[in-house]
Amino acid sequence: MSDKYDVIVIGAGPGGYVAAIKAAQLGLKTACVESWSSSDGKSQVLGGTCLNVGCIPSKALLEISHKFEEASHDYEMQGIIAKDVKIDVTKMMERKSGIVKQLTGGIAGLFKSNGVTSIHGHGKLLANRQVEVTDSDGKTKIYEAENVIIATGSKPIEIPPAPMTEGYIVDSEGALEFDEVPKRLGIIGAGVIGLELGSVWARLGSEVTVLEAQDTFLPAVDQQVAKDALKQFRKQGLNIVMGGRVTGAEVKRKLVNVSYEDSKGKQELKVDKLIVAVGRRPYTDNLLAADSGVSMDERGFIFVDEQCKTEAPGVWAVGDVVRGPMLAHKASEEGVMVAERIAGQKPQVNYDCIPNVIYTSPEVAWVGKTEEELKTEGEAYKVGTFPFAANGRAMAANSASGMVKIIADEKTDRILGFHIVGPQASEIVAQGVIAMEFGSSAEDLALTCFAHPTLSESVHEAALAVNGGAIHIANRRKKK
Ligand code: FAD
Ligand code: AMP
Repeated sequence: MSDKYDVIVIGAGPGGYVAAIKAAQLGLKTACVESWSSSDGKSQVLGGTCLNVGCIPSKALLEISHKFEEASHDYEMQGIIAKDVKIDVTKMMERKSGIVKQLTGGIAGLFKSNGVTSIHGHGKLLANRQVEVTDSDGKTKIYEAENVIIATGSKPIEIPPAPMTEGYIVDSEGALEFDEVPKRLGIIGAGVIGLELGSVWARLGSEVTVLEAQDTFLPAVDQQVAKDALKQFRKQGLNIVMGGRVTGAEVKRKLVNVSYEDSKGKQELKVDKLIVAVGRRPYTDNLLAADSGVSMDERGFIFVDEQCKTEAPGVWAVGDVVRGPMLAHKASEEGVMVAERIAGQKPQVNYDCIPNVIYTSPEVAWVGKTEEELKTEGEAYKVGTFPFAANGRAMAANSASGMVKIIADEKTDRILGFHIVGPQASEIVAQGVIAMEFGSSAEDLALTCFAHPTLSESVHEAALAVNGGAIHIANRRKKK
């Protein structure tokens, strides 16, 4: 087979592998270059961060730890006797790894059935859409393409005060591999990843302290929702220190001594393990030759327009390596858009309708604008909220905390924001995404029939509440 392709994708995470499959489905001769190798270095591993060390393994651990916590603490009051519940960390990790293996193997199967050529090695973009691939033996080969899609993703940010120290100071990847439950666990960063990993180990019995430099908890989240979430996390025992900037961390006598500063001055914390979860950076190491024609912005993201075109003709970039939220589904949407554009279609990603989820318990999920954003923009809006405490299904499920909050345009009633803190928020948020994609008003949702008893009835009631018509709570219509 010739080494010239219609499309070469660099990176096989959710941005890259989805782009490659879509391009092949559209009749384009497609190859995908991926450098990730199995632990023995012999075979290629597809799926990127998301499948190997991100979304999937973290959700496997979140699900298992949630079940453990329920069985340990919440069963008795429901009449279930489950004495001496224990966690077998080795078995839990085996299950997590099994799920990862099944899913990454599934992508290899999808490549085969769609006719995507998989190339194992490190890809580097040269001039004129040539891609140099270096394999694990250091041998290089050059491939050519009409179009190249860069989907090289991101890596954890490291900070000088807390250098990675094997077995003690780890990033998110290391935190998914602990072989026992640490007695005391420190986490730097109360972002999505820090909170999810903190939840896993707290549920399994760790004493968790999260140090967050900023004063505002989850600043990107609607603050009514964020405050509710913070209250519930603290009630569960997560010690979240706001305004706590880590200044140093060193391992002494098998403990990590963490120094940080908060409003009261210098503080010390001793933990058995420390997770650094201060964000991720775009990954472009040894990716671009000087004459590739692709440029980066000041933060190292590959510079692209709304359609993910770089400044080099025929070169595109998608996912974590470009601007926008670092989310798997955003990467995949961009991958599909680019493949379809290469095939001559004119799709567009609707960046206003990308859902965000924090898979804690309760989950936090949202799409669209927060109240804070609308205030800053000077938009007139109205709000409807409904607490899960008034939802029969949530009560039956022993998870009646949190709320659904819908924000609509004051005049047109069009839904501008949809926010949830509560059970199954990750699933419920899809209703807001669909409503917003269809340009729905709050009244449209209010006029829709929802099955009873369901958690989703809280969406119905929040939509009714937007215009003062909720049935199962007193209406306090909030206008700006
Ligand atoms: P990646 O998944 O990072 O894939 C990039 C691929 O490119 C990698 O396989 C890499 O090996 C390869 N590569 C890089 N450079 C080269 C090169 N030069 N040559 C060849 N190959 C190369 N997102 C969600 O939406 N939901 C979640 O629940 C969620 N949970 C997460 C939990 C954790 C702990 C972490 C760390 C992340 C989580 N994310 C989640 C984020 C999600 O993983 C990323 O947004 C997503 O993986 C980005 O996809 P991508 O295709 O852009 O990049
Ligand atoms: P995210 O980018 O959502 O993953 O969140 C990472 C969080 O880490 C942000 O809220 C940062 O404010 C926080 N952070 C970064 N550096 C430090 C530090 N030295 N000490 C404490 N928190 C930090």
